[in-house]
Amino acid sequence: MGSPFSLYLTAAGIKELTIIDNDVLDLSNLQRQILYNESQIGKDKVNSAKEVLSKLNSDVQINVYKDFIDEKSIKKYLEEKDYDFIVDCSDNFETKFLVNKIAIENNLRCVISGIKDFYGQIITINPKKTACYQCVFSEPIEAPPEEGPLPVIGVTPGILGTLEALEVIKTALGLPNLENKVLMVNLIDLRFNIIDIVKNESCFCSK
Ligand SMILES: [Zn+2]
Repeated sequence: MGSPFSLYLTAAGIKELTIIDNDVLDLSNLQRQILYNESQIGKDKVNSAKEVLSKLNSDVQINVYKDFIDEKSIKKYLEEKDYDFIVDCSDNFETKFLVNKIAIENNLRCVISGIKDFYGQIITINPKKTACYQCVFSEPIEAPPEEGPLPVIGVTPGILGTLEALEVIKTALGLPNLENKVLMVNLIDLRFNIIDIVKNESCFCSK
């Protein structure tokens, strides 16, 4: 999701984009991570991302950090400068809950999306005002170990990552967005359903 998200926001001319990722590019990533190409295999993803995005739009300030996101590391980056949004493009529930928590605690607008094979979901959060990720999904769901990593069809993160970019642009412009809503995307039947959600008064975001 980070590939289409960063490409569209950079192309749109967002002022500044900070990318945090700890991974190295593998051949198997290329069926979905369209930001990269074969010549970058074996290299740090953040540096390759900066290389590609800077060539797309040299007016956008691209900051990259090769790091794994956890409660301690993210604090360091938040102290460095003021951000308007935090967007989850991760592939695991633990990070999505962490990003949600960081958004609420630091009063950052937030977009979180998740995918599995042909399905996806996406939510936008306005801290203290709208329902948060944890209001809807009460705790991280661990995939049973026998399932292995979630299967991914390349187009699914392409669509959901593009929708994340759309949400940031629309939210920044004050246009209708996915606050207090979850958009469920079903790419097998090509159905998009919006479920209205309400802020959970017993959730940590209401305290
Ligand atoms: Zn909540």
